[in-house]
Amino acid sequence: MGGCQSYTSTSDSVKEGDVSVVTEEFSDITEHKLKNNNTQTAPSLEEKPYLMQGYVSERIAEIDVNTLTVLPVGFDKAEWMASHTVAFFKHINLLSSALSDFCTTGTCPTIIGPGNMTYYWTDEQGKKVKCSAPLYTDYTMSYIQELLSDEDVFPTKAGCVSRAHGPRLKTRIFLYLFHTLAHLYWVHFRDVVRMDMHPHLNTLFVHFVTFSREFQLLEPSDTAPLGDLTSILYQHHSC
Ligand SMILES: [Zn+2]
Repeated sequence: MGGCQSYTSTSDSVKEGDVSVVTEEFSDITEHKLKNNNTQTAPSLEEKPYLMQGYVSERIAEIDVNTLTVLPVGFDKAEWMASHTVAFFKHINLLSSALSDFCTTGTCPTIIGPGNMTYYWTDEQGKKVKCSAPLYTDYTMSYIQELLSDEDVFPTKAGCVSRAHGPRLKTRIFLYLFHTLAHLYWVHFRDVVRMDMHPHLNTLFVHFVTFSREFQLLEPSDTAPLGDLTSILYQHHSC
């Protein structure tokens, strides 16, 4: 269980200098040569294969994520948000589980995201602790699972509304899920491609970010580490 034992804590991220994990992961990309051998952009794409044209254009279907996201007239907002949160939670958990052979305490002793940002879990005493990626994911999923059954956060009874801390916890949920997605893109995208799951990941990510924006669940600074990917995916998806 290590130091990550709290489900009622916040997470944070700090940029680190250790690039060895990511460099090793993406060091042998040879099948996708860049046009004109552009030496200025090549390192970026080698570091971020998820930005490659052949990958960002792939999705599972022609989906208008805006229509999927915007609250339909007559729908209850709390139920709409709860149902989406459950769906995001399940899909991200499913993707993470599918990659569990690649994302282990051995391969990912510390969870990192774009720019080698380390995501920390803060325990109940406010102490930031490092977690392995699978441990961070496990605690994130357990934390969310617990909140999804909390009537104060996701009321299911007609006429009930989230209490004061509900919105704050929702943003925390989405931040945790974003970190999980960011880790998959940054460290495991080649594994994702090998398993032919990148169309699913891209579609899920676009929907997730669009929903987060629509309901102000994440700050622009939260999603900035994958801002380049978001911009490109928006060009290819119906947003
Ligand atoms: Zn990992």
